[in-house]
Amino acid sequence: MFWGEHLKEKRGIALDTEFTVQDLKDLVYDFKDIVKKRTGQPFPTEPEDQLWGAIMAVFNSWNGERAVYYRRMNGYPEDWGTAVNVQAMVFGNMGKTSATGVCFTRDAGTGENAFNGEYLVNAQGEDVVAGVRTPQQITKRGSEQWAELAQISAEERVEQYPSLEEIMPELYRELHEYQHTLEQHYRDMQDMEFTIQDGKLWILQTRNGKRTGAAMVKIAMDLLAEGLIDEKTALQRIEPIKLDELLHPIFDPEALKRATPIAQGLPASPGAATGKIVFFADEADKFKSSILVRQETSPDDLEGMNVAKGIVTARGGMTSHAAVVARGMGKCCVSGAGALKINYKARTLTVGSHVYQEGDWISINGSTGNIFEGKIKTKEPELSGEFAQLMELSDRYATMEVRTNADTPKDALVARSFGAKGIGLARTEHMFFEVDRIQAMREMILADTVKGRKQALKELLPMQREDFEGIFEAMQGYPITIRLLDPPLHEFVPHQLATQKELAEDLHISLGEVKAKVAELQEFNPMMGHRGCRLGNTYREITEMQTEAILEAALNVKREKGIDSKPEIMVPLVGTVEEFLMQKEIIQSTAEAVFKMCNKRVEYSIGTMMEIPRATLMADEIAQHADFFSFGTNDLTQMAFGYSRDDAGKFLSVYLDKGILQHDPFEVFDQEGVGQLVRMGVERGRQTKPQLKVGICGEHGGEPSSIDFFHRVGMNYVSCSPYRVPIARVAAAQAAIAQQAAE
Ligand code: PEP
Ligand code: MG
Repeated sequence: MFWGEHLKEKRGIALDTEFTVQDLKDLVYDFKDIVKKRTGQPFPTEPEDQLWGAIMAVFNSWNGERAVYYRRMNGYPEDWGTAVNVQAMVFGNMGKTSATGVCFTRDAGTGENAFNGEYLVNAQGEDVVAGVRTPQQITKRGSEQWAELAQISAEERVEQYPSLEEIMPELYRELHEYQHTLEQHYRDMQDMEFTIQDGKLWILQTRNGKRTGAAMVKIAMDLLAEGLIDEKTALQRIEPIKLDELLHPIFDPEALKRATPIAQGLPASPGAATGKIVFFADEADKFKSSILVRQETSPDDLEGMNVAKGIVTARGGMTSHAAVVARGMGKCCVSGAGALKINYKARTLTVGSHVYQEGDWISINGSTGNIFEGKIKTKEPELSGEFAQLMELSDRYATMEVRTNADTPKDALVARSFGAKGIGLARTEHMFFEVDRIQAMREMILADTVKGRKQALKELLPMQREDFEGIFEAMQGYPITIRLLDPPLHEFVPHQLATQKELAEDLHISLGEVKAKVAELQEFNPMMGHRGCRLGNTYREITEMQTEAILEAALNVKREKGIDSKPEIMVPLVGTVEEFLMQKEIIQSTAEAVFKMCNKRVEYSIGTMMEIPRATLMADEIAQHADFFSFGTNDLTQMAFGYSRDDAGKFLSVYLDKGILQHDPFEVFDQEGVGQLVRMGVERGRQTKPQLKVGICGEHGGEPSSIDFFHRVGMNYVSCSPYRVPIARVAAAQAAIAQQAAE
């Protein structure tokens, strides 16, 4: 509580204006006392010393806890520093002819072109924001709207809460003129502070106003239509990340003010969600709205993840299973919240000393990584006409295409509706996450003879073919890159007893045998283990089955729907040219067999992921044989930094706190370091093949600063999860505009 509040309580008064002269004198003594106690020095009496004290207080505030948090949240560098503006004081608390207020040239919530704001008579700035007195509206229209919402009668409004427009019409007109002049000058929505001292208006400051994502889009498009800014400026005014607010539910801003954050994780998948805690995916439907809280997730949890309103994991980073899958689903997710202690047995979640039970309400913000206690109201998104206009404008300036990472026809359709110009990555192993398929996939992984594996692959083939047909149809001839199987085995091996039992029944073997096989497949470092093309090169029947499914689907869709899919078959985790060549040979010979059997051909190409550092070094040689490159910056980051994607969550937050890293490199691409590998890979690849098509399909493909880098190294496209497509479209346009300006 502020010091003055104690005195108010003692006196039984509510407002500063009710203090007597003696009260104020007493307060001055009290404050001087506090200063002396805290600083060991008496309060300075020299005005110059006082001024320097105030200036230094502002400079020092740069390192305050809140400032540090704010910088991190907005990605502002630590070394920017702050500035101090010294100006003469005017007083809004000199009686009834004085006032103070804050106003906006347009509505910061909706973007509507309507002057608005709040003020108080006989008050200082702090009173308007402190919430002790109810601020009044500046315009009559705003005042009437406010009264209606607050259910205050017209008479009461005029009597107790009149607008500035009504009680000081002359000054209001003057203020109105200034706001217009300032907005015309700065060509952006202004947030202004003013004081009226004894009938004279003073403008204290003006700055570009903060706004919601919806207001950001509307204001930029309106200013463009009004001729105040040109197209490029309108595009540069967009903070792409804020578009997320338009695509996912967000917290009601008023409700959020009363919420208490209890922990912080990684902003793994944007949006806001509120629900009751459940700890097991198969119980996600236990409550109408649930939040699935897990140590980490696995393919077993897929259905529950889909049912839950949001997902929280204590472990795992931005590219963990939970994060990637949630982003694909457009579901809110906070990952790697290390402060959460989960006890599955007791069904409790402990944060610090507080214990939450199953069924307790929590709320999560997947855009900031915040986890809150209790229920917070959320708001559904609405897409406006201005949004469509912005997207269309972006495409006119962007030179890179935006594709999507989509594994199912449903995701592909969502991405198309957001304007994706193709699929840059279909992770075929994700197609098997669904319950009825994962069993066949596991059978295949656990099979220890070629015959057993072929049997399981035979079951998988029609499912894959059908999925590919769906995806080809959804994408209507847009390019589609399909990646061959790349399952880090630990993501698929059943760890839960119930699933192991089911598998034993399916395979007609004992539980003990399943357990033994699981143990046999155990890898010390699965991310660098038997995955990617290593799998297809050791078990060629896997690549054969997938090639068959892809090409038969392409033939079917061409025959039945007339769609020319031209699939781009992509080999994952290539490190040596020989690895690629072996896969290429299997694909080509299978393709020839399929074409011969069907007596028809389709066009297709064979390319590679660039995700192993060695591949970027050998890019000139690999490009002799590959039709395209797609940079897998998740693995490339993992291997260049030597940070395990699954374990980095444990230390990354400490590294960020200590300033060792400025960003989580799995979220914001490391242009300086890993960027060298990417640049080299592109350059060397194009030395061999000048027209080589190059894209990126790691999670960075949806992150604006990374997109700018990918544009600068000359990539043809970026590919990102469906809900990030609009962000990437704007970011790609901004990157092109920035490069033009720099040339
Ligand atoms: C990558 O490594 O960047 C990539 C896209 O592949 P995955 O995340 O599936 O390993
Ligand atoms: Mg990868």
